[in-house]
Amino acid sequence: MGKHVNIALFVPHAGCTHNCIFCNQKTISGKSEILSVNDVENACKTALNSGAKGGEIAFFGGSFTAIDENYMLTLLEAAYSFIKNGSFSGIRISTRPDCIDNYKLDILKKYGITAIELGCQSLDDEVLFKNARGHTCEDVVNASKLIREYGFELGHQMMTGMYGDLGKETAETVERIIEIHPDTVRVYPTIVLENTPLAKLYEKGEYVPQSLDYAVCECAEILLKFHNSGIKVIRLGLHSGGNVEDGYIAGAYHPAFRELVEGRIYRNLIEEKIEGISNKTIEVFVNSSEISKAIGQKKTNIEYFKTLGFDIKIKPCEKINRFEIALNL
Ligand code: SF4
Repeated sequence: MGKHVNIALFVPHAGCTHNCIFCNQKTISGKSEILSVNDVENACKTALNSGAKGGEIAFFGGSFTAIDENYMLTLLEAAYSFIKNGSFSGIRISTRPDCIDNYKLDILKKYGITAIELGCQSLDDEVLFKNARGHTCEDVVNASKLIREYGFELGHQMMTGMYGDLGKETAETVERIIEIHPDTVRVYPTIVLENTPLAKLYEKGEYVPQSLDYAVCECAEILLKFHNSGIKVIRLGLHSGGNVEDGYIAGAYHPAFRELVEGRIYRNLIEEKIEGISNKTIEVFVNSSEISKAIGQKKTNIEYFKTLGFDIKIKPCEKINRFEIALNL
C-alpha cells in the first residue's frame, strides 16, 4: 500500500473582484505563475512516483468557484482523471461563501469533489464589512446548507484578530460555526502583509495586531471548543514558507503555531487542576500521543510551572483522551 499524500495546489486569483483588506493575492499573483493543467498533472505524477496512493488533491487559494469557468473546468478535468483511475480519493476546493450555487455545485459533483471549504473569516456582518469581504454571514449559512444538501464534506475557514474584531466577535463566530457544525475548520490569526490596505491601517495606528501570546491564548480556547463539539480543526495558523515570511509586517505568526496552541491547552488544564494543591511534585497523566504537547514546545510548560513552584512530571496513560488530564499527587 502506498503513502497517503495530499497534494496542495495553489490557484492565485488574479481576477478577483474583491479587495479584502488583509489579502495580498493580487501582489502574489503578479509574481507567481498561474496554475496550469501541466502543473496539476505533474504534481499528481510526482506524488504517485514517490509512492503516494489514496490521498486528496486540494485546490487552495480561496476563490476556486469564482475563477473563469473554462479555466476551472480544465483544472478539474486534469485532477479528475487521477480520481477516476483510483490514484487519489477525492478533490478539495476552497471558495467564497457567495460563490456557491446549484449551478456550481452541479459542476463540482460531476468532477469528484469531496470537500468544499468556505472562507468565512468571520460570522459578524460588521467585521465582514470592515474587512471588505463582500459577503455576509447569511451567505455562509446558505452556502453551508447547500453544500450539505449536495452531500459534500463541509469545511469552514475563520480568522481571529481581524480589523474591527474586539474578541467577542471571534467568540460569536466560533459559536455560530459550532451551530452550523462543519466537518472541518481551519483557523488563521490575522497577519499584516505588505501591500495590503490592512498594512496602511497598521502604519496609521488604526489597526493593532494581536501579540503571538494573545493569539495562542485565544486559539487554545477555540481549538478546545471545536474539539469538544466534535469538529476537526485541520489547520491552525498560516503555512510556513512562501509568501507569509516574505511579505510579513506584523501579527501573530509562528511556524509551529499549532504546537504552541496545543501546549497552551495542556498548561491551562494543569493550572486549573493544581490550583490550591499543597503538594509541589505532581504527576500529570495524558494520552501517550500527547506527551510532547503537554510538556510544551521547548519544555515551556514544565518551566512555567517551575516558576510557580511546581515540579510537574508528564506521564503516559492510554485510558485518557486527548485534551484531558489526570493527576497523581
Ligand atoms: S481573500 Fe478576498 S481579495 Fe483575496 S482572493 Fe480571496 S476574495 Fe479575493
